[in-house]
Amino acid sequence: MTERYDCIVVGAGPAGAAAAFTLAKAGLDVVVFERGEYPGAKNMFGGILYSTVLNRLMPGFWADAPVERHVVKRRYSFVSNDSEAAFDIRLDAFNRPPFNNSFTTLRARFDRWFAAKAEEAGALVVTGAVVDDLIIKDGAVAGVRVRMEGGEVFADVVIIAEGANSLLAEKAGLKPKPDSANMSLGVKEIISLPKGVIDDRFGLEDAEGAAVEFFGEALGPGVPGGGFIYTNQESLSVGIACPISALKEKGIKPNGLIDGFKRHPAVSRLIRGGATEEYLAHIIPEGGYNAMPELVTGGALLAGDCAGFVNPSLYKEGSNLAMASGVMAAETVMEAKSRGDFSKKTLEGYVKRLEESFVLKDLRRYKDAPDVLRSTTGLFKDYPEAVMEMLTRHFTISEESKADAHKELKRILKGRVSLLRLAGDVLRLRKFVR
Ligand SMILES: Cc1cc2nc3c(=O)[nH]c(=O)nc-3n(C[C@H](O)[C@H](O)[C@H](O)COP(=O)(O)OP(=O)(O)OC[C@H]3O[C@@H](n4cnc5c(N)ncnc54)[C@H](O)[C@@H]3O)c2cc1C
Repeated sequence: MTERYDCIVVGAGPAGAAAAFTLAKAGLDVVVFERGEYPGAKNMFGGILYSTVLNRLMPGFWADAPVERHVVKRRYSFVSNDSEAAFDIRLDAFNRPPFNNSFTTLRARFDRWFAAKAEEAGALVVTGAVVDDLIIKDGAVAGVRVRMEGGEVFADVVIIAEGANSLLAEKAGLKPKPDSANMSLGVKEIISLPKGVIDDRFGLEDAEGAAVEFFGEALGPGVPGGGFIYTNQESLSVGIACPISALKEKGIKPNGLIDGFKRHPAVSRLIRGGATEEYLAHIIPEGGYNAMPELVTGGALLAGDCAGFVNPSLYKEGSNLAMASGVMAAETVMEAKSRGDFSKKTLEGYVKRLEESFVLKDLRRYKDAPDVLRSTTGLFKDYPEAVMEMLTRHFTISEESKADAHKELKRILKGRVSLLRLAGDVLRLRKFVR
């Protein structure tokens, strides 16, 4: 291994692999250090890869990449403790390339493939290599210390794409310690089922996929967060995400939460007969724009989850923001190289690029989403209960006159939540679902 590179990338997740691919294609000398035994070995996400950026890097990538299914069907399911009201969307346009840039994916396979593409482009990917420290010289990042023999490696610039658990960036003082109010814990099981059963149960054919999101009391009464089921070819990704602060406050164990979610009737009938193959857990930085760290320093840039680039609104995107930021970090490095200047001032071009892209435009737009969600406690108990009681009443066949039934609906709503509180919550929520 040469000891000096144009660029070092820490982490071979979507952000790091996108950065390395872009740099290597442009002919720069780039090395990626990945702590996993192979890229993706320790990685997890819910399961929908958003691929606009990837499709720009490798048009038609799905023909080659290990994606599971393209998502044609979305279901938003609002649940109380035992009932469900759901909204289904199935759009045929999503059945044609580029398949709405939404593919269910298993990270252990996808990350390995993406890193191999960066290698084919000319990057060196070193696995089983934990980066322990940044090397600082004259006040700027000059390289990294890797946990291996001869572990000091130098470069003009380092792209830190180590994910949400950003020990390296924290240790170097580039990021404060995470505030548990801004982090969620995601827990997921991969549950195997035969393809035919999945197709029948979710109304799918061939490579079509479905994504079901659960809101309301999915995690138990008053527990904030949500659940999901995404269809793979021969398995389901079944999981939940809940703010870590709520877990602490309520003294809840995450495995108890996913067990409860799987027992909910709206969930149990979709996973019935399946066998749990894998259990995975990971943190999600959900603080959004207001929790973003400094994105550059002399000789280094932060990309992906390490920079907090996860859309905390209902869109729940992270993979595309990670890849977009990886590409923009690489483009900034290329510009800095052409100027021979890797100072913080030159690398600030990265922030400008991000500001002009959907990454920071979206994060800024939804900057209040984390606070709104945290403070709208009715979303996770009072409202689901009120909605279900009203729906039950509305759809119950009886000999009561419709006028009396409608009066009763108003009485139920008023009895459950004050109209003033409801109006306030609707106004606040409107800002982050639009
Ligand atoms: C439960 C859950 C559900 C999610 N669902 C979705 C979804 O459905 N769709 C979506 O788009 N996004 C989703 N996300 C978010 C998405 O996973 C992330 O935004 C995305 O993976 C970020 O990519 P990244 O490359 O920045 O970080 P990561 O994917 O975390 O990759 C970081 C890499 O760095 C490596 N690394 C870390 N430290 C070191 C070190 N010191 N030395 C060497 N290597 C190191 C890690 O092993 C890893 O390979 C979800 C996240 C979670 C946790």
